[in-house]
Amino acid sequence: MADDLSTTIAEAARLLADARDVTLFGHINPDADTLGSALAVGLALHRRGVVVRVAFGEPEDVPESLKALDTAGLLVHRDDVPQEPELLVVMDTGSLQRLGPLADRVERAKGPVIVIDHHVSNTRYGTLHCIDEHAEATALIALRLLDEMGVEVDEPIARCIYAGLVTDTGGFRKAGPAAHETAARLLQTGVDAYSVTRPLMDAHPFAYLGMLSRVLAKAELDERAAGGLGLVHAVVGMDDARDVRSEEVESVIDVVRSASEAEVAAVLKELRPGFWSVSLRAVSQVDVREVAQVLGGGGHRLAAGFTFDGAAEQVVAALKGALERVES
Ligand code: 5GP
Ligand code: MN
Repeated sequence: MADDLSTTIAEAARLLADARDVTLFGHINPDADTLGSALAVGLALHRRGVVVRVAFGEPEDVPESLKALDTAGLLVHRDDVPQEPELLVVMDTGSLQRLGPLADRVERAKGPVIVIDHHVSNTRYGTLHCIDEHAEATALIALRLLDEMGVEVDEPIARCIYAGLVTDTGGFRKAGPAAHETAARLLQTGVDAYSVTRPLMDAHPFAYLGMLSRVLAKAELDERAAGGLGLVHAVVGMDDARDVRSEEVESVIDVVRSASEAEVAAVLKELRPGFWSVSLRAVSQVDVREVAQVLGGGGHRLAAGFTFDGAAEQVVAALKGALERVES
């Protein structure tokens, strides 16, 4: 079976064993799962003497909170990615659109394009698919690949995998027993869980507090939305985001989703005037991936997103409409 994970992982390991030059991509607005996965595999290859570069399409700079994962300086600016990569590995990216300006490299690649992902909506671009929609994080699939490659997983590699695992599972709240066992294995290499997670999940500059208070003061709850299950939403306009990093904007959803009257939480993030990236979260009943897909986006059952052109009120109206169309 072409898509059987152990078969495709073995094939990916074989391709990487012969590679001399490997480019690894994360998705736009990269998080710890996408870059942790890319850097873990990249680091293993780099130590074997392979020419390695890790990149993502947007934004221009590496999010500050992820820099500590790049212990070997493998991250390059998107402009330094070859036009025709020899071998491409794409991490945690469900569709070509999520590669932003680097999407064209998939078509142009001279060699194989290995896709490692856990999105159920993965569109199967590329040539070899290591996809497990039951994996709590792409980092777990990346670790399987490293094991298949016979890599010694030491602290710098384990730190990258752990970072992806702890963030994508919401601090292990959504992790099963096997993922906890994997976490134990990673910690045994010397990973310091607290120092890895604090910059990724807890620490913000003081300006975050002011931004949060302005944004939360305007949050709205509509208990009749989503067929009566409730929607809470907040809007982070460009003005609100001016003095903070993308990390602060991305973490607003984790506060908004604490409103217990709402099954669904949304945060509208203004990327450019009138252009929004929307984060969606559900508690348990609504499949927000389906909701996001109605609006051209995607993601996971309880965490998804989409982009939208228009005024904030139009985004909310479209979201409420989509919530009525998707059955819980
Ligand atoms: P976040 O709210 O953390 O940005 O995204 C949550 C999840 O939704 C991500 O893991 C990603 O899979 C998905 N996602 C977010 N925004 C988009 C989007 O614009 N398009 C698609 N296809 N997926 C998205
Ligand atoms: Mn992920």
